[in-house]
Amino acid sequence: MGRVCRETYDQVVGNCNSIGCTNFTNCDDIQCNSFTNCDDIQCNSFTGCSWWNVPCKVARGICLAAAAIARGACWIARGVCVAAAAIALAACWVARAACVAAAAVARAACIAAAAVALVICRIANFLLDAVAFLVELILSIPIIGGIIRTILNWVTEVIWRVVGLVDFVGSLIGIRLRKKMYFGVIVPSVDSVPIVPDADIQRQVDAAIAFYDSSCNINLIFSGICHTDIPPPDAGLNFACDAGGFFNDWWLAGSYFELAAATCKFEDSFRRIIGLGAEIIVFIVQDVTGGKNGCSFASTHNYVVIEAKPTDQAFVAAHEMGHACWLSHVSDPANLMNPSTPAAGPILTNVQIALVRWSKHCVYF
Ligand SMILES: [Zn+2]
Repeated sequence: MGRVCRETYDQVVGNCNSIGCTNFTNCDDIQCNSFTNCDDIQCNSFTGCSWWNVPCKVARGICLAAAAIARGACWIARGVCVAAAAIALAACWVARAACVAAAAVARAACIAAAAVALVICRIANFLLDAVAFLVELILSIPIIGGIIRTILNWVTEVIWRVVGLVDFVGSLIGIRLRKKMYFGVIVPSVDSVPIVPDADIQRQVDAAIAFYDSSCNINLIFSGICHTDIPPPDAGLNFACDAGGFFNDWWLAGSYFELAAATCKFEDSFRRIIGLGAEIIVFIVQDVTGGKNGCSFASTHNYVVIEAKPTDQAFVAAHEMGHACWLSHVSDPANLMNPSTPAAGPILTNVQIALVRWSKHCVYF
């Protein structure tokens, strides 16, 4: 479950990095824009006095003197205004520098706090996963472990479905906020050689991610391909998708799947035990008997199995994940859940989409 720590950390650091100084950005706009037309203050009256008109001459003299005084006062006011603007400008730049420095300190403190929280979160989750790993070792004991596992998987499924009932109704009426769902692939090896090349699996992975993104607004997060060295029993390589297959899960095949999942997907251990947000594990098998390409027993397991032959349809993994989220077969040939998965452009109905989003595997965080 430690990966949630990393996801949260990345989000928080993203927020930390957005801390910046947004004030004092227009210091350069501080200017003195007043008293710019002092030179325009002139005496424009009494300009046409006759030589004998003494009162007019006197008035002209007074007017010129008054204009000169007013001009001088204007220049003084301009000087004061320019000086005040320069002081305000400098103060603004000082404040800006202080603001930028404070933001840098806040940013660094934010990132440091997130890093500390990440370490604590990882340690806590490692301990939870370690405890869950021990539980999984018990669950990998044939028969008794298998029966407990089946009960646990169904009980957690039902609990989280009850808890998520409102979300289900929301999905039904079209409120489909982004959710996420994890899935990973485990490939067994025979004589130290993986039974299928990664390239054949990638096709299924890409198709599933694109499909659940566009049809259900689910961010299907791929946790990678794990090659397990645990030797598979025959029932784990040639998987029977019937009652026999169901009971094989309580015997050696189930033990093998559980042990391989516990060792390959340690980081998901705690979530697999509590069910909420548990990764869907896609086991690659050599053959699903009865002419099928894949198999899922709904909530009975956290895993589905598929063949991954280049000739198989690309949406087999997406189809089996649908079963894991409680979708059953439908007759519409265009529907993802038709027994013969459509080769391209599969669809889901409104109710099917709501069912998938309601699954314990599909979560908001
Ligand atoms: Zn099916």
